[in-house]
Amino acid sequence: MEYCSQCGSELGKKDRVCKNCNTPVPGRERADKLGNCALIFAFFIPLIGLILGILAVVFGRKRGDGMLFVDGIKAIVISVVVTVVKILFVYLLQMLGVAIPFIVMTLA
Ligand SMILES: [Zn+2]
Repeated sequence: MEYCSQCGSELGKKDRVCKNCNTPVPGRERADKLGNCALIFAFFIPLIGLILGILAVVFGRKRGDGMLFVDGIKAIVISVVVTVVKILFVYLLQMLGVAIPFIVMTLA
């Protein structure tokens, strides 16, 4: 059983906030989901991953939730890396796009 950090009353397994004093329970569902969403979006839609990552860092700090904070940092780093890789990939494709007609002409 877990107990509220503020008032010490017993917490239900899925309570996000204390029923007695309304204090948010660190690391419970919504926070976990935010961290996970941030990480998933960071890979596929980096802009959203970045925003969720910043939110996770802010909420993580507010709630003293180290896991959420770290997930937020990870999501931000991954978002930036994925964005850079995508830009490089597009740049590379453009270079190839320019190169391909020359290659085809040479082979023909
Ligand atoms: Zn409480």
